[in-house]
Amino acid sequence: MKFSIQSRNDAISNELKELAQGYLQDFGLIMDEKEPDIVISIGGDGTLLHAFHNHVKRLDKVAFVGIHTGHLGFYADWKPSELEKLVLCIAKNQYRVVEYPLLEVNVRNNSSEVSTYLALNEATIKSPNVTLVMDVFLNDRHFERFRGDGLCISTPSGSTAYNKALGGAIIHPTLQAIQVTEMASINNRVFRTIGSPLVLPAHHTCKLKPVKNQTFTMTVDHLQLDHGELDHVIFRVAKEKVRFARFRPFPFWERVHDSFIASE
Ligand code: NAP
Ligand code: MN
Repeated sequence: MKFSIQSRNDAISNELKELAQGYLQDFGLIMDEKEPDIVISIGGDGTLLHAFHNHVKRLDKVAFVGIHTGHLGFYADWKPSELEKLVLCIAKNQYRVVEYPLLEVNVRNNSSEVSTYLALNEATIKSPNVTLVMDVFLNDRHFERFRGDGLCISTPSGSTAYNKALGGAIIHPTLQAIQVTEMASINNRVFRTIGSPLVLPAHHTCKLKPVKNQTFTMTVDHLQLDHGELDHVIFRVAKEKVRFARFRPFPFWERVHDSFIASE
């Protein structure tokens, strides 16, 4: 069994990393940054996003687990005081794996080259200074011409992140779906968008096509894409999944409650 540890790189996270590494090596586990079976992320949900993208090419071979050194997270749901318990479970192989859906992003540039990305939380397209104008297609059929600040397309497990701030619904990660939410759409007698978040099932697509040459930024999780001149972007539920190591039940709705309502 091989492991790696991703730290947020603050003093507390680094100290925990040293401890965890020592314990796991005492149990005979091997540290392998390149090809681990399990990745322990220590920090916050943002740290787990980094870990995810570091291993995005081998998602079928790796399971993630997160320890939070700040507030309770959605991916980082273990407390530092539980480190020894966690190490024991890993060493004894006492865990099951749950799989969550991901968002696939296909970017096609003007030379018809396609780049594919996977998002754990969401992808966004936004224009900071001028109105973003995009034609939105659902399953290749024109749906609306969006004018506004931008659009966010999120995964179920990412629905508690940016999507939530945009008024999107929280979606349980057993649902194979993606959600499209608007950022400040222009709506009046001339311009019209649906206004509500849209939830798309597996195999449906959302295509965004810029209406004219304009500058905008594209993000995938914490990463900003250097997209160049693009023709269109297609979003769908990915065939790949992310795998989380689960050592105890901590149901999604309990995590939602403890993160947003109150934690005991
Ligand atoms: P960040 O600015 O540190 O993250 C923003 C906040 O989102 C942090 O509190 C982070 O938790 C939390 N978060 C990340 N994934 C989450 C999830 N699945 N459910 C609930 N909360 C979550 O930047 P970052 O750490 O690199 O994370 C990038 C993410 O920031 C993006 O994927 C996007 O979802 C989010 N974001 C949110 C807004 C907004 O809400 N208005 C705007 C931009 C980006 P930790 O503190 O534990 O890392
Ligand atoms: Mn963060």
